[in-house]
Amino acid sequence: MIQVTLGNLIQIMMLGGIILVIGWWLLALWGDNRAERRRRAGMVRCRLCGCRYTDTEHAVGPVKAGESPVSRCPSCRNLNETGLGSMI
Ligand SMILES: [Zn+2]
Repeated sequence: MIQVTLGNLIQIMMLGGIILVIGWWLLALWGDNRAERRRRAGMVRCRLCGCRYTDTEHAVGPVKAGESPVSRCPSCRNLNETGLGSMI
């Protein structure tokens, strides 16, 4: 049988608590980063006025076949590509 002193038991419990808190903190940080990335995935920054908007609300579609999809800026009505280059 393993003999553990009261001092060692308290240290083990405290170490477990610290590991648990750090684990929850890292999970919360990871969740926040993931939510932020997901939120920014649909954002477009207008090249003309700098306005930021979601491409799903103002999508126009590709003007010509083979071109990347475009969306219209709600502020200045400029057409912006919604490809990776215009993503924020
Ligand atoms: Zn604009």
